[in-house]
Amino acid sequence: MSFDTLGLAPEIIRAVKAKNYETPTPIQAKAIPAILDGKDLIGCAQTGTGKTAGFTLPILHRLMAGKSPSLRVLVLVPTRELAAQVSDSIKTYGRFLRLRTAVVYGGVGYAPQIQALRNGVDILVATPGRLLDHMRQGLVRYNALEVLVIDEADRMLDMGFLPDVRTILKTLPTQRQTLFFSATMPPEVQRLANEILKQPTVIEIARQGTTAKNVRQVVYSIDTARKRDLLVHLIDKEQMGQVLVFTRTKHRADHLAGQLERTGKRVAAIHGNKSQAARTKALEAFRRGSIQVLVATNLAARGLDVKGISHVVNYELPEVPEDYVHRIGRTARAEAAGDAISLVAPHEREQLREIERLIGEKIPQSTVEGFEHRPDTGTDAPKRSFQPRREGRHAGRNSGAAHRQGPSRRFSERGAPRFAQGNERSLRSPRADSAPHQGPGPARNGQEGHGHKPADRQPVAGGSWRRWSSN
Ligand code: AMP
Repeated sequence: MSFDTLGLAPEIIRAVKAKNYETPTPIQAKAIPAILDGKDLIGCAQTGTGKTAGFTLPILHRLMAGKSPSLRVLVLVPTRELAAQVSDSIKTYGRFLRLRTAVVYGGVGYAPQIQALRNGVDILVATPGRLLDHMRQGLVRYNALEVLVIDEADRMLDMGFLPDVRTILKTLPTQRQTLFFSATMPPEVQRLANEILKQPTVIEIARQGTTAKNVRQVVYSIDTARKRDLLVHLIDKEQMGQVLVFTRTKHRADHLAGQLERTGKRVAAIHGNKSQAARTKALEAFRRGSIQVLVATNLAARGLDVKGISHVVNYELPEVPEDYVHRIGRTARAEAAGDAISLVAPHEREQLREIERLIGEKIPQSTVEGFEHRPDTGTDAPKRSFQPRREGRHAGRNSGAAHRQGPSRRFSERGAPRFAQGNERSLRSPRADSAPHQGPGPARNGQEGHGHKPADRQPVAGGSWRRWSSN
């Protein structure tokens, strides 16, 4: 199949070809004709599948017919990074069209956004909190709105934004086309979709929990105290290119970045306590290749599109198994290949089992001589000189049938489910994008995360639990 057969205008196909896309990705092949037909849509697809072009290209095509001085398309996204990225994509794919795009999100000044809104826009990409601020100032009018896109709805839920989304929805014309994307479908997200979509076409690209198909995964069992040395060793000996390293907390991200810097690595950290300017600067440096290692919290796990990430390293496994899928989806974007390495300490074994249950496969284990975990030697095995020895790395992924075993539980170090304790998150996480000069993530104990209260805990479709805890 080629882009020429999808019914898109020549100006749009030109822009796609300029990006060197040869064939539509599966979600594009399915979504573009449905959207061009004017249908509502549920796209159950993780990032990295090409979903942004999947909704942007047909929207641009639609906008070419007709004209209006007022806003015609609203794209709601959960994070600033995704907002910037989607708006860049719209500009790229619409470069041969005369359309006005604006993006509004929190953490940066109001003035340029107000100016852009006053000048008039055809397409507005926004995070919910800042958009509400602008709406309250009377700067956004929806009388001509034709299309609403909600991207990463499950992330909106995680971040506590669904009430804001619902407030915005009340002000929109009901006569419109609605496109709804979510990697997973927790009940609250499903409920929202049922309320706002009219006879939607449902497109499911990858089973929930499915890992990007070109990612080679490997696990190293290692004591916590030796993770840093192993990471440095792997970066050097594996001749890694661009490496995205995930930690669980902001504090650890900063700490690890500092340690790596001292070993001579070009490194930056990105998380919710960094200013927007610092985050943008770090991402740009990473994109350019002027830094090699980006240490990030889950904030960067979804939606971020940085080409050429050769390795994703889970320095610490994520708290929720689904986040593993999102994290490793940062490598092997589109058709490229990539490696996902997880450094797993003894206390993370249960988390690893949960992840393997979710993705329906066992991740191959590997060892590096001198860095083997010895269960009987406590946590700090002595350092030795080493010769890398790789066992079973990339040894054919086990494609075994998915074997989800009912609802998985929140991780606990002892492997038993833990329930409400003193440090549970509050229902409403601090709203990231509405508070100027404020970091985006709800922060408790330095960890970024989600906004559920225990009573909200529900199994997501597909059988796993969402998280609300902090550690
Ligand atoms: P997304 O899932 O929208 O974040 O897109 C993931 C990546 O795939 C982005 O870097 C896009 O530029 C790229 N991409 C989107 N569509 C195609 C395509 N048809 N062929 C090759 N790459 C694509």
